[in-house]
Amino acid sequence: MRILVTGGAGYIGSHTVIELLEMGYDVITLDNLQKGHREAISGGEFVKVDLLNKNELEDVFKNSKIDAVVHFAADSLVGESVENPSKYFKSNMIASLNLLDAMLKYDVKKIVFSSSAAVYGEPDRIPIQENNKTFPTNPYGETKLMFENAIKWYDNAYGIKYVSLRYFNAAGAHISGKIGEDHAPESHLIPIVLQAVLGQRPHVQIFGTDYETKDGTCVRDYIHITDLAMAHILALKRLEKGGDSAIYNLGNGEGFSVREIIKVAEKVTGKKINTKDTPRRAGDPAVLIATSEKIKKELNWAPKYNDINTIVETAWKWHKSNPKGFKTS
Ligand code: UDP
Repeated sequence: MRILVTGGAGYIGSHTVIELLEMGYDVITLDNLQKGHREAISGGEFVKVDLLNKNELEDVFKNSKIDAVVHFAADSLVGESVENPSKYFKSNMIASLNLLDAMLKYDVKKIVFSSSAAVYGEPDRIPIQENNKTFPTNPYGETKLMFENAIKWYDNAYGIKYVSLRYFNAAGAHISGKIGEDHAPESHLIPIVLQAVLGQRPHVQIFGTDYETKDGTCVRDYIHITDLAMAHILALKRLEKGGDSAIYNLGNGEGFSVREIIKVAEKVTGKKINTKDTPRRAGDPAVLIATSEKIKKELNWAPKYNDINTIVETAWKWHKSNPKGFKTS
């Protein structure tokens, strides 16, 4: 099976490429390297192509027989999406539609899509099930939901089968320490906390201490990046076997507050972390916890690294040996 992985040089993409290669898939990674890292791609073929460039994209399909697509390429900063929706509708919608149309043209009928818990917005019930109301509160979540809907209609009309995976908080790094999380600028909690441990930041800002949660700070469901990656392989297998389209949540079903994460990081690193209470970050729901029973039951997904200490330990292993991230940007 030859798999095209878009955005395969990014955090989740690169961790999925490594597992696909391990499982013997033939992988072609497509990335525009705007935010991804060439060094993060562990093997297979690589093409530097932007999905907005239709001709170059079609050449990728023309030049090799692709059996299925795993689609990660996207912009993914919630705050930026609120300030600059135009960028998000272009890179997450128009670019993704180019991909779907190229798939149609070259008769590729299977896609695993990197969706997000952001499609739910402020949840109407916790834990969040796949049939919770979807009501995104920012353009990032909106574009993810729009693309989920687009593939549903492409399935209806043209028979493109899909699995959409709605991730909660992806965290940690590959167990080998070879690849990990490197965003510029960094906005995610765990890498920020570890940067503070490394002396790269004076303190960690705690965005909001007046939420109605156990300690007033936001609660999130953290899922190890390799467990997330493995779910993509199970999703591909479902499609390979002729399985129908589906949508699954991916989380661990357990919520940790911002303060709890900082405590775990202090334990793992043995260092005291300075914090600063700051106002809420716009658009942050108080609590996001998933139930992932559906993917466990239907695809036998079984997380291996679901202990929060392990998640932070793997992240720390990567950050400690790569304090400046990947060598090339
Ligand atoms: N957060 C924080 N300080 C930071 C970064 C994040 O308090 O410097 C909080 C953020 O408000 C959220 C949680 O940590 O409640 C996780 O944020 P992250 O950006 O990692 O993921 P998100 O939940 O936005 O996908």
